[in-house]
Amino acid sequence: MINFTKYTDGLVPTIIQDNETKNVLMLGFMNQEALDKTITTKKVTFFSRTKNRLWTKGEESGNFLNLVSYAIDCDNDTLLLKVNPMGPTCHKGSDTCWNEQNNQEYGFLSKLENTITARKENASAEKSYVASLFEKGINKIAQKVGEEAVEVVIEAKDNNDDLFLNESADLLFHYLILLQAKGFQLNDVVDVLKGREK
Ligand code: AMP
Ligand code: ZN
Ligand code: ZN
Ligand code: ZN
Repeated sequence: MINFTKYTDGLVPTIIQDNETKNVLMLGFMNQEALDKTITTKKVTFFSRTKNRLWTKGEESGNFLNLVSYAIDCDNDTLLLKVNPMGPTCHKGSDTCWNEQNNQEYGFLSKLENTITARKENASAEKSYVASLFEKGINKIAQKVGEEAVEVVIEAKDNNDDLFLNESADLLFHYLILLQAKGFQLNDVVDVLKGREK
């Protein structure tokens, strides 16, 4: 049970997280009534201190936050709500209230993608293997992906896990380069996969 009496105004800080990208979209405050209404309507409803009333996010803009799930923290005094936003969350127009884009991040793979982008944009960078691949062009990069794919197949038939994982890393790495050579990113492929989800 959430402890609404912990704070003198009876309001509990509520973190709003995008259920899919996991980005934090905004922070609001809830009382028991706001939480009850959120759970029954599945539309996130705060208690607005400025408006001094229940406020369903999106009531004017249409950018509702559709509730997926909610959780109470370790000492029962903050809420975490996972949502699917119907549009930009901030009333100033940006995706999040911290003026960020609500993009999907893939952790280390996103960092690697950024490095590859930097090499692509500075293709003459000396001593850069990636830059030299971009200079050689799409056909060469595609050929390299083919070679690495064959190496993965060969190692899959052996019993050397170390070699298999290393060839897998080679394939993924060169595939990320090929995607960018074609003007795409991992996200574009993930979108196709999402479109196939039943
Ligand atoms: P909305 O709930 O999106 O229809 O917006 C109605 C009003 O609530 C806006 O004009 C703002 O005053 C306020 N508001 C909307 N979104 C936010 C937000 N993310 N943070 C703070 N205030 C907001
Ligand atoms: Zn706490
Ligand atoms: Zn905002
Ligand atoms: Zn290899």
